[in-house]
Amino acid sequence: MLRIAFWVLLGLIATNFVAAKPGAARVRLADGFDFPVGKPDAQGYYIYRGFRPNGHLGDDWNGNGGGNSDLKDPVYAMGHGLVVLSRDVRKGWGNCVIVRHAYNDPKTRKVQYIDSLYAHLDFISVKEGQQVTKGQLVGGIGTNRGMYDAHLHLEVRKNIAIGMNRMQFARDFSNYHDPKAFITAHRKLADGGKIVAVPTNTFAYDQNFAGPSATRTDFPASNALADRYASSAAQRDLASQRARRGTGPTVIMPLAENSRSGGTRYMLERSEEERSDR
Ligand SMILES: [Zn+2]
Repeated sequence: MLRIAFWVLLGLIATNFVAAKPGAARVRLADGFDFPVGKPDAQGYYIYRGFRPNGHLGDDWNGNGGGNSDLKDPVYAMGHGLVVLSRDVRKGWGNCVIVRHAYNDPKTRKVQYIDSLYAHLDFISVKEGQQVTKGQLVGGIGTNRGMYDAHLHLEVRKNIAIGMNRMQFARDFSNYHDPKAFITAHRKLADGGKIVAVPTNTFAYDQNFAGPSATRTDFPASNALADRYASSAAQRDLASQRARRGTGPTVIMPLAENSRSGGTRYMLERSEEERSDR
């Protein structure tokens, strides 16, 4: 009996190791993207600060009422997808949700992957590994513990390896979309709802939702990115990147060090976000 328990335990441990590697999960293809506030057209909200390469890497959405009038307002998934990160990252970010989307790119007619990131949330209403549909509540607009006036910081990433370590990646269109421009250009998409595979646990510097283990055949053959992450070479590559970086805990800055002085509260956001990546 003990011997059986031993092997069962060993099996469970081995399964966990498999789950920590890049894998895949099934997801619905996006049928289009909507704005994450005032759905579907951002009615009642405006972009206080937009996307600027090598500057602000997302859009800051504010309620028309200004100040904290939008505190706790609903934030919606901009499209169908899989929640790959949902946690309090603290530092300049606070509560963050990252949703991974697959969509049929109208230009190339191939499945592409993007991550949408929702930051500074007052509360989070989704879990890692959860499937979401377009317009589903992911959280509420927040201030990140009073660090900013309430607003939503939204990013749309082409590169699904970034995670919470932006400083390791070029801060330009090679890795990011301009969120407003991207959503505007992708309101309606072909093949929406079709089930496809998305790579999981792809962040080069953080663990995230690992997903069920998958074989290479789970991926659509046309998607080069999926192939890359599914290949054993890519798995070794990611493992060695993590090893080079070391596995020590991330240093979390106490909130007291996040000075409120200097500039507007939005300029402060930028510096905190940059600091948070180190
Ligand atoms: Zn921002």
